[in-house]
Amino acid sequence: MVETRSGLTSVSGLTSIEAAPARGIEQSELDAGVRWSVAHAVNGSPWWRAHFAAAGVDPASITGVADLVHLPFTTKQDLRNSYPLGWASVPEEYLVRIHASSGTTGKRTVCAYTVRDIADWADQFARCFTTAGVTSKDRVQVMVGYGLWTAGAGFQAGAERVGALVIPAGPGNLDLQLELIMDFGTTTICATSSFALLLAETVEARGLTGSLPISKGIFGSERWGERMRERIESLLGIETFDIYGLTELYGPGVGIECTEHDGIHYWSDYYYIEIVDPVSGVPLPPGEEGEVVVTTLRKEGMPLIRYRTRDLSRLCTTECKCGSPFPRLARLSGRTDDMVKVRGVAVFPSQVESIIDRVEGVGPEYQLHLHWDPERGDVMVVRIEANEMPGLREKLIHELHEGLSLHPEVELLPYGSLPRTERKAKRVFDHRS
Ligand code: ZN
Repeated sequence: MVETRSGLTSVSGLTSIEAAPARGIEQSELDAGVRWSVAHAVNGSPWWRAHFAAAGVDPASITGVADLVHLPFTTKQDLRNSYPLGWASVPEEYLVRIHASSGTTGKRTVCAYTVRDIADWADQFARCFTTAGVTSKDRVQVMVGYGLWTAGAGFQAGAERVGALVIPAGPGNLDLQLELIMDFGTTTICATSSFALLLAETVEARGLTGSLPISKGIFGSERWGERMRERIESLLGIETFDIYGLTELYGPGVGIECTEHDGIHYWSDYYYIEIVDPVSGVPLPPGEEGEVVVTTLRKEGMPLIRYRTRDLSRLCTTECKCGSPFPRLARLSGRTDDMVKVRGVAVFPSQVESIIDRVEGVGPEYQLHLHWDPERGDVMVVRIEANEMPGLREKLIHELHEGLSLHPEVELLPYGSLPRTERKAKRVFDHRS
């Protein structure tokens, strides 16, 4: 039995995250982390040795963050080409687990973990729960996938680390989810935003609004806008938190919003973020939007060095009102691979979403359909859930034209008619090829 800072007695003897308050990281520690990761990768993996050699880089010349710019990027394609364990930088007997992405856009991307990586991930995830105000008094229902998928295992380990009671419901099955929420008094739900919306609309349809014990929702694995947030929060009467992560970088739980909801605090003692121009790869100054590139500082199993995440965001340049020592990344505005070209113009679904978010009477779900018309060329149809209101369609067409420099067609549909999904929602349908 161990007394922790919170005064709780830990039966397992493990100190909770509260016992070791998180702090920011010094420049010298960042530099040491970069040096360690480069040396670790090169010493442990022929793939990494060949990668640096091909770029003509002497790994010994890398002294810290300032030298990152001399190192070549790594991409999801590199990771796939070295499938399954080419990036592993420790002897195989030190690896204790793998997780992998769903492989919806190609070969699965893998993350392999050592004992310390698993512990580091749980610590980061616990910090996320603490940041969202989840404590040992909470009951956390994990409504995401277990197994190869990183999410279930990550949410569970993090919630247990703060001492919360975990209800590992897994994804899907609304009836079971609602039964467990009521029976166990679930206070916090963890899900994709798509599934949270489905749950919220089911609660409304069954007249259960206001009768659930939930007070918080932690949602990740896809980008979700303010309109989606408002609808989920109002239907369920909860506060929601956007959590960040990707399979290659431990999984979810490497950053989260605080109660200020003004960007995502990321755990800069575990990894370093650069923002680069997604086309040229040139690093951008703080505050400018571009692709998120990560370099891990202590990841053993599969370190990431200048890994291009394909996530689009920017670094927040002001200090957060919450006083956290950790820097912030703006909520993701899209992914570089979501981009579609319409009449030669680059369009991101996130642009469409931010435009329709500003129009009153519009629901949270939308789809983009792209067609080829021999007379008119590329045609983009935006399908949006909305209440029928005079002039709404015209207003949406006008706003989309202003924002995208394109003339999309707009199709209005009743609320709830676009599919709700338990996983990531598919929003772009390209029928041109
Ligand atoms: Zn904050």
